[in-house]
Amino acid sequence: MRPAAERLRRLAWMLLWLAVLAALLAWAWGQPFMASPRMLWDIARAPAPQSLPVPVEGVRARQVADTFGAPRGTDRTHQGVDIFAARGTPVRSATRGIVVAIRDGGLGGRQVWVLGPARERHYYAHLDDWAPDLSTGQVIRAGDVLGFVGTTGNARGTPPHLHYGVYAAQGAYDPLPLFRAGAAPAR
Ligand SMILES: [Zn+2]
Repeated sequence: MRPAAERLRRLAWMLLWLAVLAALLAWAWGQPFMASPRMLWDIARAPAPQSLPVPVEGVRARQVADTFGAPRGTDRTHQGVDIFAARGTPVRSATRGIVVAIRDGGLGGRQVWVLGPARERHYYAHLDDWAPDLSTGQVIRAGDVLGFVGTTGNARGTPPHLHYGVYAAQGAYDPLPLFRAGAAPAR
Protein backbone atom coordinates (compact mmCIF):
# COMPACT_ATOMS: atom_id res chain seq x y z
CA MET A 1 0.00 0.00 0.00
CA ARG A 2 1.29 3.44 -0.84
CA PRO A 3 1.97 5.76 2.14
CA ALA A 4 -0.71 8.23 1.05
CA ALA A 5 -3.40 5.55 0.99
CA GLU A 6 -2.21 4.27 4.40
CA ARG A 7 -2.49 7.77 5.89
CA LEU A 8 -5.99 8.11 4.49
CA ARG A 9 -7.00 4.76 5.97
CA ARG A 10 -5.69 5.79 9.43
CA LEU A 11 -7.53 9.10 9.21
CA ALA A 12 -10.77 7.29 8.34
CA TRP A 13 -10.39 5.00 11.39
CA MET A 14 -9.66 7.94 13.65
CA LEU A 15 -12.77 9.79 12.43
CA LEU A 16 -14.85 6.65 12.98
CA TRP A 17 -13.61 6.33 16.59
CA LEU A 18 -14.24 10.00 17.23
CA ALA A 19 -17.78 9.59 15.94
CA VAL A 20 -18.33 6.60 18.26
CA LEU A 21 -16.91 8.55 21.21
CA ALA A 22 -19.10 11.56 20.44
CA ALA A 23 -22.18 9.33 20.20
CA LEU A 24 -21.33 7.72 23.58
CA LEU A 25 -20.86 11.14 25.23
CA ALA A 26 -24.11 12.40 23.74
CA TRP A 27 -25.90 9.34 25.09
CA ALA A 28 -24.34 9.71 28.58
CA TRP A 29 -25.32 13.41 28.68
CA GLY A 30 -28.97 12.36 28.49
CA GLN A 31 -28.72 9.76 31.27
CA PRO A 32 -29.85 10.43 34.86
CA PHE A 33 -26.33 9.89 36.25
CA MET A 34 -25.18 12.89 34.23
CA ALA A 35 -28.08 15.10 35.31
CA SER A 36 -26.27 16.84 38.18
CA PRO A 37 -23.06 17.71 36.31
CA ARG A 38 -25.12 18.85 33.33
CA MET A 39 -27.36 20.97 35.58
CA LEU A 40 -24.29 22.47 37.32
CA TRP A 41 -22.87 23.38 33.93
CA ASP A 42 -26.24 24.80 32.90
CA ILE A 43 -27.13 26.87 35.96
CA ALA A 44 -23.66 28.33 36.39
CA ARG A 45 -24.23 30.06 33.04
CA ALA A 46 -27.95 30.82 33.40
CA PRO A 47 -28.92 34.42 34.21
CA ALA A 48 -30.37 35.27 37.63
CA PRO A 49 -34.19 35.13 37.59
CA GLN A 50 -36.14 38.34 36.89
CA SER A 51 -39.21 36.97 38.66
CA LEU A 52 -39.94 34.16 41.10
CA PRO A 53 -43.06 32.30 42.17
CA VAL A 54 -43.91 32.41 45.88
CA PRO A 55 -42.46 29.08 47.05
CA VAL A 56 -45.37 28.17 49.35
CA GLU A 57 -48.41 26.57 47.78
CA GLY A 58 -51.45 28.84 47.60
CA VAL A 59 -49.71 32.02 48.81
CA ARG A 60 -49.77 35.15 46.63
CA ALA A 61 -47.05 37.79 46.43
CA ARG A 62 -49.27 40.47 48.01
CA GLN A 63 -49.71 38.29 51.10
CA VAL A 64 -45.98 38.34 51.81
CA ALA A 65 -44.85 41.13 54.15
CA ASP A 66 -41.81 43.25 53.32
CA THR A 67 -39.48 42.35 56.19
CA PHE A 68 -36.16 41.94 54.41
CA GLY A 69 -33.48 43.87 56.30
CA ALA A 70 -35.68 44.34 59.40
CA PRO A 71 -33.74 44.16 62.69
CA ARG A 72 -33.61 40.73 64.30
CA GLY A 73 -32.25 40.88 67.84
CA THR A 74 -29.40 43.33 68.40
CA ASP A 75 -26.77 42.05 66.00
CA ARG A 76 -28.43 40.96 62.77
CA THR A 77 -31.08 41.80 60.19
CA HIS A 78 -33.63 39.61 58.46
CA GLN A 79 -31.90 38.04 55.45
CA GLY A 80 -35.08 36.90 53.72
CA VAL A 81 -38.86 36.93 53.89
CA ASP A 82 -41.31 34.95 56.02
CA ILE A 83 -44.18 33.29 54.19
CA PHE A 84 -46.98 32.28 56.56
CA ALA A 85 -49.21 29.28 55.84
CA ALA A 86 -50.82 26.39 57.69
CA ARG A 87 -48.44 23.80 59.08
CA GLY A 88 -47.79 21.12 56.47
CA THR A 89 -48.45 23.34 53.42
CA PRO A 90 -46.12 22.20 50.60
CA VAL A 91 -42.99 24.28 50.01
CA ARG A 92 -42.15 24.27 46.30
CA SER A 93 -38.80 25.21 44.84
CA ALA A 94 -38.88 28.71 43.36
CA THR A 95 -36.32 27.72 40.74
CA ARG A 96 -34.78 24.72 39.09
CA GLY A 97 -31.49 23.65 40.57
CA ILE A 98 -29.61 21.14 42.66
CA VAL A 99 -30.21 20.30 46.30
CA VAL A 100 -26.83 21.10 47.85
CA ALA A 101 -27.66 20.70 51.55
CA ILE A 102 -30.34 19.22 53.77
CA ARG A 103 -29.74 20.18 57.39
CA ASP A 104 -31.41 20.21 60.76
CA GLY A 105 -30.18 22.71 63.32
CA GLY A 106 -29.38 26.32 64.19
CA LEU A 107 -31.77 29.19 63.53
CA GLY A 108 -33.23 27.58 60.41
CA GLY A 109 -34.14 24.24 61.94
CA ARG A 110 -35.06 21.80 59.21
CA GLN A 111 -33.78 23.43 56.05
CA VAL A 112 -32.96 22.87 52.39
CA TRP A 113 -30.41 24.72 50.27
CA VAL A 114 -30.86 24.74 46.50
CA LEU A 115 -28.20 25.96 44.07
CA GLY A 116 -30.10 27.72 41.31
CA PRO A 117 -29.57 29.84 38.18
CA ALA A 118 -26.52 32.14 38.23
CA ARG A 119 -25.23 30.03 41.14
CA GLU A 120 -27.55 31.78 43.56
CA ARG A 121 -28.34 29.78 46.70
CA HIS A 122 -31.96 29.47 47.81
CA TYR A 123 -32.60 28.83 51.48
CA TYR A 124 -35.83 27.21 52.71
CA ALA A 125 -36.03 27.09 56.51
CA HIS A 126 -38.22 26.17 59.50
CA LEU A 127 -39.62 23.15 57.63
CA ASP A 128 -41.89 20.79 59.54
CA ASP A 129 -40.44 18.00 57.43
CA TRP A 130 -38.63 17.44 54.14
CA ALA A 131 -40.22 15.94 51.04
CA PRO A 132 -39.94 12.13 51.13
CA ASP A 133 -36.74 10.87 49.48
CA LEU A 134 -35.28 14.37 49.07
CA SER A 135 -31.52 13.91 48.75
CA THR A 136 -28.38 15.99 48.38
CA GLY A 137 -27.30 16.24 44.73
CA GLN A 138 -30.85 15.81 43.50
CA VAL A 139 -31.83 17.77 40.41
CA ILE A 140 -35.10 19.61 40.87
CA ARG A 141 -37.43 21.57 38.68
CA ALA A 142 -39.18 24.79 39.68
CA GLY A 143 -42.30 23.75 41.58
CA ASP A 144 -40.95 20.47 42.94
CA VAL A 145 -41.88 19.93 46.59
CA LEU A 146 -38.90 20.37 48.94
CA GLY A 147 -40.74 20.07 52.24
CA PHE A 148 -43.59 21.38 54.34
CA VAL A 149 -44.18 24.59 56.31
CA GLY A 150 -43.39 24.31 60.01
CA THR A 151 -41.86 25.98 63.04
CA THR A 152 -38.46 24.32 63.47
CA GLY A 153 -35.34 26.20 64.55
CA ASN A 154 -35.91 29.64 66.04
CA ALA A 155 -39.46 29.70 64.63
CA ARG A 156 -40.57 27.51 67.53
CA GLY A 157 -43.56 29.16 69.20
CA THR A 158 -44.37 31.40 66.18
CA PRO A 159 -47.15 30.83 63.64
CA PRO A 160 -45.91 28.30 61.03
CA HIS A 161 -44.01 29.94 58.17
CA LEU A 162 -41.32 29.39 55.59
CA HIS A 163 -38.25 31.57 55.90
CA TYR A 164 -37.01 32.02 52.34
CA GLY A 165 -33.69 33.64 51.49
CA VAL A 166 -31.78 34.12 48.24
CA TYR A 167 -28.01 34.51 48.34
CA ALA A 168 -26.02 35.85 45.40
CA ALA A 169 -22.22 36.14 45.45
CA GLN A 170 -22.51 39.59 47.14
CA GLY A 171 -24.90 38.30 49.82
CA ALA A 172 -28.62 38.03 50.43
CA TYR A 173 -31.12 40.13 48.48
CA ASP A 174 -34.85 40.75 48.90
CA PRO A 175 -36.90 38.24 46.86
CA LEU A 176 -40.19 40.11 47.37
CA PRO A 177 -39.83 42.35 44.26
CA LEU A 178 -39.25 39.18 42.22
CA PHE A 179 -42.42 37.61 43.68
CA ARG A 180 -44.33 40.75 42.68
CA ALA A 181 -42.79 40.68 39.19
CA GLY A 182 -43.97 37.08 38.85
CA ALA A 183 -47.50 37.73 40.09
CA ALA A 184 -50.29 38.06 37.56
CA PRO A 185 -51.06 41.76 36.93
CA ALA A 186 -54.02 43.11 38.92
CA ARG A 187 -57.22 43.60 36.88
ZN1 LIG B 1 -37.43 34.79 58.56
